[in-house]
Amino acid sequence: MGPTRNTVQRDIILKTVNSMHNHPTAEDVYNAVICVDPHISKGTVYRNLALLSATGQIRKIAMPGTDPDRYDFNLLQHYHAVCRKCGRIIDVYGREGKPDVQFSEDFMIEDIDLVFSGLCANCCN
Ligand SMILES: [Zn+2]
Ligand SMILES: [Zn+2]
Repeated sequence: MGPTRNTVQRDIILKTVNSMHNHPTAEDVYNAVICVDPHISKGTVYRNLALLSATGQIRKIAMPGTDPDRYDFNLLQHYHAVCRKCGRIIDVYGREGKPDVQFSEDFMIEDIDLVFSGLCANCCN
């Protein structure tokens, strides 16, 4: 038996996210995926994005406030800075993969979701 329709679709979605290096929203991914597979539904794309991020094949970036989540092909430990003017998201790397911060008491870190906000180089000149 060959690959099922489900695995084929998941594969298309994963390849699409891996080709998008601009931290796309689920909507952006859907718009790119339908160029490859016009019959894929929005629900399928959203469901697979959740699944692929739950299994660690891509990363989901929870954005502050009501902004939609973004997705990231880059699995290296890093953080994000979002430009409040143009919405561009840039990658931020900590020292040895950890943010340079100090906790006021013991805390076991399980996950880090750090988003800086401000103005990117294009927007503050
Ligand atoms: Zn900007
Ligand atoms: Zn990133």
